[in-house]
Amino acid sequence: MSADYDIVIVGGGPGGYAAALYGASAGLSIAIVESDSVGGTCLNRGCIPAKSLLQTAEVYRTAAHAADFGIMPDGPGTFTPDWAKVAQRTTGVVNQLVGGLSGLLKRRKVTVVNGRGRLTERGTVQVGGDELNARNVILATGSVPRLIPGFEPDGERIVTSDHSTRSDQLPARVAVIGGGVIGAEFASVFTDVGCETTLLEMLPEGVLPIGPDREIAGVLARALAKRGTKVHAGARVGPPEKANGGVILGYETKSGTEKIEVDQVLVAIGRKPVTEDIGLDAAGVTMTERGFVAVDTDTMATNRPGVYAVGDVVETPGLAHVAYAEAIVAIKAILGENPIPVDYARVPWVVYTHPEVAWAGYTEAEARAAGHDIEIHKYKFAGNGRAMIIGDTDGMVKIVAQKDGPILGVHYVGPWASELLAEGYLAVNWQALPEEVGAFIHPHPSLSEAVGEAMLAFTGRSLHG
Ligand code: NAD
Repeated sequence: MSADYDIVIVGGGPGGYAAALYGASAGLSIAIVESDSVGGTCLNRGCIPAKSLLQTAEVYRTAAHAADFGIMPDGPGTFTPDWAKVAQRTTGVVNQLVGGLSGLLKRRKVTVVNGRGRLTERGTVQVGGDELNARNVILATGSVPRLIPGFEPDGERIVTSDHSTRSDQLPARVAVIGGGVIGAEFASVFTDVGCETTLLEMLPEGVLPIGPDREIAGVLARALAKRGTKVHAGARVGPPEKANGGVILGYETKSGTEKIEVDQVLVAIGRKPVTEDIGLDAAGVTMTERGFVAVDTDTMATNRPGVYAVGDVVETPGLAHVAYAEAIVAIKAILGENPIPVDYARVPWVVYTHPEVAWAGYTEAEARAAGHDIEIHKYKFAGNGRAMIIGDTDGMVKIVAQKDGPILGVHYVGPWASELLAEGYLAVNWQALPEEVGAFIHPHPSLSEAVGEAMLAFTGRSLHG
């Protein structure tokens, strides 16, 4: 008797349908015998509907506690942000963490000296009239917002992120200059809480012009535009004119010259290292051409023996978690422990916009430019159950790997990309093969399944892909 099928599966639940999908993607002919809807208990009366109910509960809890976040219900389905309350909550979170950190420092018996420190010729640190003596010094003076001449911040009409992160007032109309991480994050906030938001980016690439994979940045740019952010790429801003309690701002793009009137201009064109008046000259510490403290990133040591530098003051990605990693390198070097240097080409990047953008390793363009023969697979959140449940399906996971080789870059745009990145970051840094990661189990239903699916696609087979 000749066979009608390679496989007949009895039961169309997760076990049965996964066998069918995977088998079919491997070229087998398959039949499923199922007396009810396909999907079994999990899909029809288990995991999926249960998680959908849990999400409803989550939304109810969020709505019921909206006022705690400064989002005041003022009619059925309508809310008004109360920015004074928002600022209060933000300050509360900050204060709680500052308190926690102070406690940690105290418990580890770290002396906190209040004042500005400056290196001396002798290699000591002067604070006011006092001089602190140490075998080693670590410079970690950070960075401050870069300013545009003519846009001197007054904290009201012209501001930097220093103001916007702690302001108790929301501008009705705002222009954000700079479409990098800070500009994109604030444009996302302002747009979502109802401000008329214009984003002016100098480079022609527009939103997040440097850093992320272009396809990924494009998803964010479209999502912002859809929600109402007016994005102008290749924009050259003219000097601001203060008028009618606001600011008139002219800018030039390929399509001509425009003038807009806004209540506030947020300048977010980058940050510069704090190197002034910290005694670099006196101690003979060398700087880079771009004005950062020069270090050997194997140890974070400067040219002056016993003086190290970490964080935004050195010319490495200006990210808090990179500063943490550099701090560990410096301490290990001081302890003589042979630190593992930070692999700067593979650090994790996250932009906390809506949708979130996250990545580590090479973008598609960078991988090609480095001469790799590459293979790419993507999985869109539109096909992911958890994304549907939370009502947030815009975005994708994109994996760049060397053909028949390790993962070179992981790229995400979509819900909780910030949290999903951890797995991809490990995979990139462990130089894992996509099929290895694809063979690991991703819980169902979860957003992380999108990562599993994209990885599995490298085998030429798939489950839900
Ligand atoms: P950025 O370098 O990321 O972006 C600045 C943008 O401004 C660039 O796109 C640049 O082309 C544009 N620009 C420069 N001059 C301009 C001009 N005159 N007109 C219009 N556009 C102009 O800098 P940022 O967004 O200010 O962030 C600063 C630093 O803070 C970054 O190094 C970043 O790493 C760090 N940061 C990180 C996060 C995060 O990781 N989520 C969040 C906030 C800040």
